[in-house]
Amino acid sequence: MISTQLMKLAEQNGWKVNNKEDSVFGVYNGYLFTVLEGNRFKAFITPVAGISPAALESVLDYLEKQRKGLRLHSFEAHDNFLCVRMEEGLVKLGAERLETMLGQLSGLLSLQEVSADACVVCGKPAERRGLYVGLFCHLHPECENADMVDFTSGNDMAGEIET
Ligand SMILES: [Zn+2]
Repeated sequence: MISTQLMKLAEQNGWKVNNKEDSVFGVYNGYLFTVLEGNRFKAFITPVAGISPAALESVLDYLEKQRKGLRLHSFEAHDNFLCVRMEEGLVKLGAERLETMLGQLSGLLSLQEVSADACVVCGKPAERRGLYVGLFCHLHPECENADMVDFTSGNDMAGEIET
């Protein structure tokens, strides 16, 4: 079941609803996002293929520093996706709060000049958009079954330590 908050977020932004994965996905400020919910958190997942090691470090550093301010449950980058989980109490986060987070994350990626149209597998610009492992991203048709160039290796554990 997709919550009313996620449905509202999708509606407000002209996003699509993925009933199979219980997620919503679409474009925000030029960046592609998939948002889904878990037990007491909402997860924001965006592709970061092609990101430089320095930019990735800056992104993760920023999230670490803003962990409390942004009410982050956890975050990590792996398999060319950045996943940021926002804490949710008994009161569900409203669509506006979710949109604020999308603004923060897209702003952060833009500031670090993370390419918004990189193919999630090879990291080169791609026009086609689609779902890869259920997540919204750019993808070359010929890359769908190719080996991934991992731009996020070595950062698997980032943000995993609970505070
Ligand atoms: Zn590709």
